[in-house]
Amino acid sequence: MKLILLGPPGAGKGTQAERLSLRLEIPAISTGNMLRRAVEENTPLGQQARQLMDRGELVPDGLIIDLVLERLAQPDCQKGYILDGVPRTGPQAALLEEKGVQIDAAVLLDVSDETVVERMSGRRVCSTCGASYHIAARPPKQEGLCDLCGGALIRRSDDAPETVRRRLDLYHRETEAVEAFYRQRGRLVSIGQGNSIEETERAILDRLNG
Ligand code: AMP
Repeated sequence: MKLILLGPPGAGKGTQAERLSLRLEIPAISTGNMLRRAVEENTPLGQQARQLMDRGELVPDGLIIDLVLERLAQPDCQKGYILDGVPRTGPQAALLEEKGVQIDAAVLLDVSDETVVERMSGRRVCSTCGASYHIAARPPKQEGLCDLCGGALIRRSDDAPETVRRRLDLYHRETEAVEAFYRQRGRLVSIGQGNSIEETERAILDRLNG
């Protein structure tokens, strides 16, 4: 099963990617997490990406596609994968297809802008493994610490309200082309805003199996 998760920042792509990854036993690949790791490790890619990410802007398409293709060539991706946060522009979707990446379904988590802003203000992520929490909707068992690895939970620098608004604008400008791309190919599966993380996961699985 080769899946893409689409939707605005804060729609729950990372959370659903983690859950689907466990359930379907395929890796979740998040370009955001890969880039944050590169920034932390100060690699050449990280140095190029840092400022763009802090401003809420996109990293160039070519760099992203090289990063993803390198990851998809690894053995754990043989059975399938879940792409979270990529493709994010029309050209990225076209480039992936050109390179032979065939997607079974592009799952759109269709969440309103107001919900996004509310969610992002409470989001916390693990500084070690990237797992995602929300202070109200999905708190960790122990405040400030990751349930999975015990790492410190931090607020992402790009979750600041001004940056969130910029990322939302960018989403509407760039990523809606990606929706159109997969809709045209009959691969778009749109999931309305669920009441809970579990309901959204169930809705996705029902639609994929149905
Ligand atoms: P995310 O964690 O998916 O919200 O990504 C965080 C930031 O990483 C974005 O605001 C972009 O600056 C960068 N980024 C992640 N994925 C991509 C992508 N597919 N194309 C361009 N930039 C990306």
